[in-house]
Amino acid sequence: MTSSGKHLGGREYLAIPGPSVMPEAVLQAMHRAAPNIYAGEIVDIAASLVPDLRRVARTEGHVAMYIGNGHAAWEAALANTVAEGETVLVPATGRFAHGWAEMAEGLGAEARIIDHGKRAPWDLDRIAEALRADTGHKIKAVLAVHVDTSTSIRNDVAALRGVMDDIGHPALLMADCIASLGCDRFEMDAWGVDVMVAGCQKGLMVPPGMAFVFFNDKADAVRRAMPRVSRYWDWSPRANPEEFFMYWNGTAPTHHLYGLRTALDMIHAEGMEAIWTRHERLARAIWAACDAWGAEGPLELNVAAPAERSCAVTALRLEAPHATALRDWTEAKLGLTLGIGLGMAPPGDPAWHGFFRLGHMGHVNGQMIMGLLGGIEAGLTALGVPHGQGALDAAATEIAKI
Ligand SMILES: *Cc1c(COP(=O)(O)O)cnc(C)c1O
Repeated sequence: MTSSGKHLGGREYLAIPGPSVMPEAVLQAMHRAAPNIYAGEIVDIAASLVPDLRRVARTEGHVAMYIGNGHAAWEAALANTVAEGETVLVPATGRFAHGWAEMAEGLGAEARIIDHGKRAPWDLDRIAEALRADTGHKIKAVLAVHVDTSTSIRNDVAALRGVMDDIGHPALLMADCIASLGCDRFEMDAWGVDVMVAGCQKGLMVPPGMAFVFFNDKADAVRRAMPRVSRYWDWSPRANPEEFFMYWNGTAPTHHLYGLRTALDMIHAEGMEAIWTRHERLARAIWAACDAWGAEGPLELNVAAPAERSCAVTALRLEAPHATALRDWTEAKLGLTLGIGLGMAPPGDPAWHGFFRLGHMGHVNGQMIMGLLGGIEAGLTALGVPHGQGALDAAATEIAKI
């Protein structure tokens, strides 16, 4: 401990919902001299990523890679499919759906938002009603956030496809899997998703900087009918690369390509089914601890029903003393950084102090989760926050099933 009260020694743990913990192997793969970007190994590595990204997304479709973050993926997906003056339908279960809607509005589209608040998943009847009322098929795309990272709500994308098919609405189904890819089960083709967006810095375990847009032939036909698509975001040359330099519209994200190559090797060595199971078991340990703490005192899981929770991120409510005090304590004393609340406060209260979030996406295992939970328990004790006993026992019981 330093004189300022900051912890000293040991590894820090960034337990926020992205960027996630980066494997040493990924960092080591990136730690190298600059490669030639016009020929040689880097060209082959980039090509080799495509089939392995498809396997993560469970699709036989196309994937376009960009230099960018999740917001870039949002804009790329829209720029290829939704023209100025067209309409998108956005069922919102948290801040990120609103963010994607704002991105659509920035491109001159009309965003019709169905707001579900912050604690419940989509109400498919409300979405069906909106689609049925759209008899002229003005709605070009439904923007569906699979896991909204602000609320930790997980929505049923396959069921939404079923609703769209039943009604016979031709809109594209576009999914945001930026938080869920490589954490919560997602099957692009089996679930009938036309466009899916992701970033590299959450379940894919690579430093922020690459964005992905997956799309099927139906979406590509929509792209080809667009009056114009901005050159940088156009997915066509990226899906059918003729020249490496053209692919990236300039310099490639060289070191990210090495890092992603290693991350995908790790992902496929473990296997998608095993990865989804691991995330689910670790999430169950977190929920068990939170239930025990919440049995007495103010701490509360944001999403009541386990089936509606993501296995990648957990949003929690803690109002007195507020979550910010807990986050400050664990960061200063333990080197454990918890996620801030995002978009959770009532309008007019920008402080968001009553919420925090745990990221448990990607490169996480049982001992890290036990450490995370132990750190929170220590913080609750240090701050005198009333809480139920037995949280770590409950978590250990879940971890023991691994
Ligand atoms: C993180 C995230 C985003 C935004 O990604 P950035 O890389 O921060 O732009 C969008 N949607 C979801 C669901 C996310 O989790």
